[in-house]
Amino acid sequence: MTLTKVVPKGEVLLTGGSGFIASHILDYLLDEGLFEVVATARSDAKGRQIIDGVKPEHRKLVSYVVVEDISVPGAFDTVLKLTPFDYVVHTASPYHNNIVDPVKDFLDPAIKGTTGILHSVKAHAPSVMRVVITSSSAAMLNPGNHAKVYDESHWATVSWEDAMDPRHTYRCSKYFSEKAAWSFMVSEKPHFDLAVINSTYNFGPIQRGLPNLESMNTSNHRIRDLVLGRMREQIEPTAPVFTWVDVRDVALSHVRAMTIPEAGDSRFYVVGGHFSNKRLADIIREHFPQIADDLPPADTVDDFPEDVYQFDNTRSRKVLGLKYTDLETSVVDTVRSILDLRPTKA
Ligand code: NDP
Repeated sequence: MTLTKVVPKGEVLLTGGSGFIASHILDYLLDEGLFEVVATARSDAKGRQIIDGVKPEHRKLVSYVVVEDISVPGAFDTVLKLTPFDYVVHTASPYHNNIVDPVKDFLDPAIKGTTGILHSVKAHAPSVMRVVITSSSAAMLNPGNHAKVYDESHWATVSWEDAMDPRHTYRCSKYFSEKAAWSFMVSEKPHFDLAVINSTYNFGPIQRGLPNLESMNTSNHRIRDLVLGRMREQIEPTAPVFTWVDVRDVALSHVRAMTIPEAGDSRFYVVGGHFSNKRLADIIREHFPQIADDLPPADTVDDFPEDVYQFDNTRSRKVLGLKYTDLETSVVDTVRSILDLRPTKA
């Protein structure tokens, strides 16, 4: 990866460093040789996993700090005082299906985590020039009533009551946290500017050092489940989201949104194409014939809707210079990374 413009060396705070998307952002930041990174993790074990996961020659450029819970007021104060950071990339936010308490488990960390880090940067990090926040297309899309063509002007229509229904909690958490970030920028007028990445479902290689496939990130689950034979009898419905993007494109979008001057004060809809579970299965069958028996039958009906909503990713291509990875490449690379961790059959 090369940045479209040469930027001076900088110090980056990367939150949620143990996460799937963050692991790829870290790779890009370190590969470029221009950045030193402090990542946050929820425990020492996860912090060490981050360091172990990077190439040996990069280890001196990355360190970690434990931030156990981003919902706690002032959670980022200590780390932000460590060094004069130039950029902050805030990816940390819950993304899983284990919702017990919507407020405590999702809404608090998403919303208070986002406003908390913005307040802390304003109060303690005068050197920060830009904050990049990982929002989601979930903050834009209306699955019950899809737009014909989505772009950055779209916002989901959700209420706090919707958020109490576990089926909608995640997308509400992304909506409310992104709204809160933009409101902060208007009301607080901080010394830094903001760029937001609204990517859709990410597929792509899982992060190095993951202990097992059960601890794998949520958006790759459907590929994992296909590979492990969990959809052999019955393919799961693809709905409600039929768009995907490769995690490496998403990671690059964060790095470019961080450094390209024109990217400030913007959100970016980062989306590579359409997919269905049947299309994923077909690609896996073609490239990995050794696991064909674990896949749904080849004549399974494709549930891809004829009138599927369209997307306009012009801004991400023009401003960030993204060139999107194709579905076949992304799925093949994802499956390879999963097979490396697949338990051997008895
Ligand atoms: P991961 O679950 O892999 O990463 C989430 C990260 O956030 C982890 O490091 C996690 O730590 C940390 N985190 C979660 N809750 C807390 C908390 N309360 N306190 C401190 N840290 C916390 O998911 P992804 O990499 O997929 O997602 C990263 C971001 O990207 C999220 O904001 C997600 O909403 C967004 N996103 C993801 C998409 C996708 O398809 N993957 C699409 C669009 C947006 P730990 O693992 O220790 O819990």
